[in-house]
Amino acid sequence: MDIKALVIAQKDYFLEGNTRNLNQRINSLRKLRELLKKNEKKLFEAIYADFGKSEYETYETELSLIYHEINKAIKKIPVWARTKRIKTNLPNLPAKSYIIAEPLGTALIIGAWNYPYQLSLIPLISAIAAGCTAIVKPSELSAHSSRTMAEIINSNFDSRYISVLQGGVQETGELLEQHFDKIFFTGSIPVGKIVYEAAAKHLTPVTLELGGKSPVFVLNDCNIKITAKRIIWGKFLNAGQTCVAPDYLLVDSKIIDKLLAEMERLISELFPNTKDVEENYVRIINEKHFNRLADLIEPEKIYCGGHLNKEKLFISPTIFTNVDFDSKIMADEIFGPLLPVIAFDDLQTAIFKVKSRPKPLALYVFGKNSKNIDLILKEISFGGGAVNDTVMHLSNGALPFGGVGSSGTGNYHEHAGFKAFSHYKSILHKRPMLEPFLKYRPYTTLKLNILKRLLE
Ligand code: NAD
Repeated sequence: MDIKALVIAQKDYFLEGNTRNLNQRINSLRKLRELLKKNEKKLFEAIYADFGKSEYETYETELSLIYHEINKAIKKIPVWARTKRIKTNLPNLPAKSYIIAEPLGTALIIGAWNYPYQLSLIPLISAIAAGCTAIVKPSELSAHSSRTMAEIINSNFDSRYISVLQGGVQETGELLEQHFDKIFFTGSIPVGKIVYEAAAKHLTPVTLELGGKSPVFVLNDCNIKITAKRIIWGKFLNAGQTCVAPDYLLVDSKIIDKLLAEMERLISELFPNTKDVEENYVRIINEKHFNRLADLIEPEKIYCGGHLNKEKLFISPTIFTNVDFDSKIMADEIFGPLLPVIAFDDLQTAIFKVKSRPKPLALYVFGKNSKNIDLILKEISFGGGAVNDTVMHLSNGALPFGGVGSSGTGNYHEHAGFKAFSHYKSILHKRPMLEPFLKYRPYTTLKLNILKRLLE
């Protein structure tokens, strides 16, 4: 089936009302869960073939989140889809007011490669829960994972309902020409702009889950050991190829030496510079990205790490010092295992520096003084984040996840995901009685005075 025909078939399937029934949605999610469980081995093998991601990390950062979203949606669909009663204002009485959640229609979901399963399937789970039909276009860079998802889903679901379409720029371009009722995109800022522009032609609502440079503030009253551990984990997970990975550190100069020493110690403990790490650490996705990252490395700024193996697309966890906001590593999102550390003496100046750059997807603060923590959280606009941790806010599905400004538009996970694929229809439901004379001509001064008393 060609792309245009597939979109038309999905629209017809939706318009025929096949996705309206809540039990149908719940059963589809149960079926998806069962299929994923049954094919876990294949999913593990595929992602390993793509970029050497281990079974443990794949379960921890992909499948467990997907299962959680499915389980939550199965339990909550009846609540999320329920018509919600709202208070009616005085001039409209007697009447009731309510909001009906309705599925937006046929959705296009475009995924990124770095968490190929969850970035394609969690939006799909939300689309199914909301009652949409959906075409999923995972990334061509994680080709094995994308093929495996396509095999599992396409051979078990009606393509008029949900379908995985593999392809790169050309296929995505063709998809974007079609008139969808919702586009959910995860990926880079430049491609986000292409998607937004294409959506505008049809006035299609979008969710854009983009990237950016996510800072970490380390204040002088932090617990150095815990801080170092949580930064190292969040930064070097998936070889730094995580949208919410700490991109750079802003560290109070009073504690920078202690923090650097502890991070170096941890790196050598967790990633001993042996052949084993080279064999088993997550790879950089391809040569293009390897070269991009290698180009960011200024050898004189390396504090620790800096080991590269092009043949294996391996870059060891690397920390840089003597970096400032004008260094080339500070220009764009790093998206790799390179961590620049900048010292600050004055917190307000550091806050202003971050504030005057594009709004980050995530921001982290380590410290104890609640005044300083609040100052950072309230002064800087960013998608979401954590205090005294990194990345883990994403694992709390009850927290809507998304960016702001250049790091994204809209959010998802659990109920927020359901909302992203729904329209909320507001209804004023009146009874055929008691019509106020005030509404009607002639408009007298007396009526105007009564109106003023009633409506203000
Ligand atoms: P990307 O923008 O290169 O690709 C994303 C998707 O867009 C892929 O499916 C790809 O096939 C498609 N695409 C690429 N070029 C296109 C074009 N010219 N026209 C139409 N479609 C095109 O992003 P990526 O390299 O897969 O992912 C890395 C980026 O995604 C990083 O910036 C990262 O921060 C961001 N990201 C964001 C989140 C989030 O949840 N906010 C999650 C993961 C990744």
